[in-house]
Amino acid sequence: MPSSSNTSKTKSGYEVRRLHLEPTPQLDALAQAAGELYTRTVISFWRTVRKHGQWLKPSAMMRWHTSDQLHAHSADAVVQGFYAALKSWRKRRKTDPHAKPPYRRRRYSRVQWKSSAIRVRYGSLVLSNGRGNAPLVVPWSWGVPVLVELGWTGTGYELRCAYRDMDPVPELVGDETAGVDLGEIHLAVAHDGQRTTIFNGRELRAKRQYQNKIKAALAAKQSRLKKGSRRWRKLQRSKRKQLQKLDHQVRDILHKQTTALVSTLHASGVQTVVIGDVRDLRGRVDYGPAANQRIHQMVTGQVRWMVTYKAGRFGMRVVLQDEAYTSQECPRCGHRHKPRGRVYACPACGFRFHRDGVGAINIRRKYLGSGPVVGAMASPTGVRWQPHQHARVAR
Ligand SMILES: [Zn+2]
Repeated sequence: MPSSSNTSKTKSGYEVRRLHLEPTPQLDALAQAAGELYTRTVISFWRTVRKHGQWLKPSAMMRWHTSDQLHAHSADAVVQGFYAALKSWRKRRKTDPHAKPPYRRRRYSRVQWKSSAIRVRYGSLVLSNGRGNAPLVVPWSWGVPVLVELGWTGTGYELRCAYRDMDPVPELVGDETAGVDLGEIHLAVAHDGQRTTIFNGRELRAKRQYQNKIKAALAAKQSRLKKGSRRWRKLQRSKRKQLQKLDHQVRDILHKQTTALVSTLHASGVQTVVIGDVRDLRGRVDYGPAANQRIHQMVTGQVRWMVTYKAGRFGMRVVLQDEAYTSQECPRCGHRHKPRGRVYACPACGFRFHRDGVGAINIRRKYLGSGPVVGAMASPTGVRWQPHQHARVAR
């Protein structure tokens, strides 16, 4: 499991995200396969020099030595790694007569994945390996890197993921428009004209309730102590630590769910993402105490921001649409009423649909300025957040 991540910019114009990974049998096997391939390359190269006085070209070497365990391009990268070391030795040799050529064998070596072997699916980075070998899957809440490298830091593995500063805009597969309703009960509900997808917010609410519980419990303990005393400060530190951890978990959920949302939309050919504008909360449901409302606004703001920049990476456009009455209006006849229960049932025309999907349908409809929806629509699909897992598609 990745335990930390940070990004840095390199001189070459790449942004690199670093992720620490604890050793696993799979990581060890990959690093070993790369080391074994590197060693075969070293041996073959110098043997050919010795026996035939010939320097084999990288292309010939790549044809000669391959690996079953590694992706074909990852195997090529190992061979290329040897030639890079060779080149740097020839350069150093000009100024340093003691420079040593790359003779050493390696038990382990770094593994690289090129873009052909890199995918991001439902909150996971999926790195393909040789045919018949399981891919390396890492929980992931960022965009698709152009190059990934697995290295050893001395204490553990490190996954280095490079992004080009100027990411090329990925090709769009369609010109659909989707409405997105950001909410409290659900993080987001998306509707693309046919399909409705619900991104659950239950885990998020649970975390938030736990957050309030910690605050209340520690505040009660602290109230019995002298402010600023040693015990008091100790509790203060513990409170901050626990709340920080929860903050990270909340952000993790938001990242995974918004990544799942954006890739779902992209996969169904969406070009324009219409987000309901909730900045004006008047006329909307009562969220209870002011504090809850503030948190709700903060989360939807965060979600909107994440969706906006992630959609941008896919080349999608994000627009805001005033969402007044979108949860109350009947998508078929325009009649307004406050729905009760899980099903929106229009008393005027009899239209029935899962209540949570109505807002997204209407947001899309309002933006397109299109008339009432006609025909039957598929009932919504739910995407639940799972810790350390792909976002699972469930009813
Ligand atoms: Zn109706």
